[in-house]
Amino acid sequence: MSFNVVFFGPPAAGKGTQAKIIEQKYGLKQLSTGDLLRAQVAAGTELGQQAKAIMDSGKLVSDEIVIGMIADAMDNAKKAKGFIFDGFPRTTAQAEALDKMLKERGQKIDMVLELQVKDDALLARIKKRAEEEGRSDDTVDAMKTRLEQYRNYSAEVLPYYQKQGDVMRIDGMRPVDEVTMQIEAVMGEDLAA
Ligand code: ADP
Repeated sequence: MSFNVVFFGPPAAGKGTQAKIIEQKYGLKQLSTGDLLRAQVAAGTELGQQAKAIMDSGKLVSDEIVIGMIADAMDNAKKAKGFIFDGFPRTTAQAEALDKMLKERGQKIDMVLELQVKDDALLARIKKRAEEEGRSDDTVDAMKTRLEQYRNYSAEVLPYYQKQGDVMRIDGMRPVDEVTMQIEAVMGEDLAA
């Protein structure tokens, strides 16, 4: 049996942090388009060179690039029980492409979690992360754009999933372990690896 979940939420909501905890417990594989893109940038590939300026500005990289990366990553992880999609999909075209790719594998999106965090808390987290990690898109300007982008794409992607079923809301303002507990409560013990 497979299980595929989308972690949806604004930049710095804690999707990556939670995905890393949850993938261990449930035997799922986290697929983060942000991480995949940063790996391309670090490796100096042509794709990475194309994506870097867009990422640094806080805008969205093209659907074609991120869909292609996700398709490759899914092909390279055939043994996974399922996936945690983190930072993907961010457009309806990406959501449709994902449904199609899963369907070809006889699978589907089983759950969508929306991590909710207020803007002022997000900005505070980004400032802290900027000091700790030095990510080139953790600047005040890029963050403003990323939040604006989030408002736009969540207005199309969330209704897309609401039409398919419930989107589970998670209070992302709580401490990390309490957020994990909320996620585990909705994902269910029966799924645990
Ligand atoms: P965050 O969610 O904290 O903003 P991510 O690591 O998820 O950061 O993404 C960083 C950047 O990578 C985004 O601002 C965007 O430029 C690009 N990106 C990541 N995922 C996608 C996607 N699904 N579609 C388009 N662009 C993406």
